[in-house]
Amino acid sequence: MSLHQWPTWLPLREDLAQLSPYGAPQVPSLAQLNTNENPYPPSPALVEAITARISLVANTLNRYPDRDAIELRTELARFLNNLSGTSLNADQIWAANGSNEIIQSLYLACGSKGALGFTPSYSMHPLIARVTGTTWHEGLREEDFTIDIDSAVAQILEHKPGLTFVTTPNNPTGTSISIGDISLLAKTCASVSGLLVIDEAYAEFSSEPSALTLLDTFPHLVVIRTMSKAFAFAGVRLGYLAAHKDVVNAMLLVRLPYHLSSLTQAAGIVALEHQAESLATIATLIASRESLVAKIESLGSTVIPSSANFLLFSVDDPKEIWQSLLGQGVLIRDVGLSGYLRVTIGNEAENERFISALRQSLGGK
Ligand SMILES: *Cc1c(COP(=O)(O)O)cnc(C)c1O
Repeated sequence: MSLHQWPTWLPLREDLAQLSPYGAPQVPSLAQLNTNENPYPPSPALVEAITARISLVANTLNRYPDRDAIELRTELARFLNNLSGTSLNADQIWAANGSNEIIQSLYLACGSKGALGFTPSYSMHPLIARVTGTTWHEGLREEDFTIDIDSAVAQILEHKPGLTFVTTPNNPTGTSISIGDISLLAKTCASVSGLLVIDEAYAEFSSEPSALTLLDTFPHLVVIRTMSKAFAFAGVRLGYLAAHKDVVNAMLLVRLPYHLSSLTQAAGIVALEHQAESLATIATLIASRESLVAKIESLGSTVIPSSANFLLFSVDDPKEIWQSLLGQGVLIRDVGLSGYLRVTIGNEAENERFISALRQSLGGK
């Protein structure tokens, strides 16, 4: 990838000049399996309910939204409590335009002591760190993409970061870390006066208990969730965190005034009212994931065990296979890991299209 040549008249920050914008390709394709979206669109009932609520809200669009999104945060707390048996209050929840904005706010508020993550993991953690001027420490995973707990503890003690990120299930590998190991990491982060941030973007697809269940024990634990994946609501841009209320208070310092539009808040509340429909797709996607694992392996590729809605699988030449699949109308993700590609679980037609294209690509070599 060639770097953009910036003109000298543009007073761009020097530390940004070397960066490339986030850019998962958005190209029209028959099977769009590259950004871990839920392939199932909102039900007609949900579409109707959103439309009705939005047209009510439209009458008051001359006014700023509820700056603190109280109703939405109350409903998010209720949702999480039902899911995980917790007793969170609205003042322990913060919501923003996607969990990416949550991550940005965490850096803005707590980034001065640097951040640590264990790669390969979500590429936006280091990228948003750089954009916010946060020092990023690239931590390591094992060869099989799991986190060795002793090694992770040692890395935290070495860097003493203000923020330690752990994504579980991890993107792009699909691997999970146990709740016991999360407790150990939380203790270690406490000993260096840092926050442990568990990114649970894919938690609804996993059978591991959520780190939400540890919030009462560890005040410096932050759990990030999103409506972009299991909730099938990526277009709305709604992410949130659950944490101690002082973490939420810190978010209030760095958020932009009225950051979450009335339309977003209304759509989120309606989607939570219809959660049973949206979340019903999870079981289907898990079943599809298991059947896809077997099919990919039958083509001679190795699949990393996944508890998310995507699979990381081995190929000899990722770039060539990626291109060949795209030529057949199937868009998946080259995550820049040598020897691997990532595919999102799609609907049945997309999964079949993917498998037959992959068979073609691998056979044609
Ligand atoms: C997709 C994803 C997110 C979601 O980002 P949004 O801004 O909420 O759409 C967050 N973290 C990880 C690890 C992800 O894969």
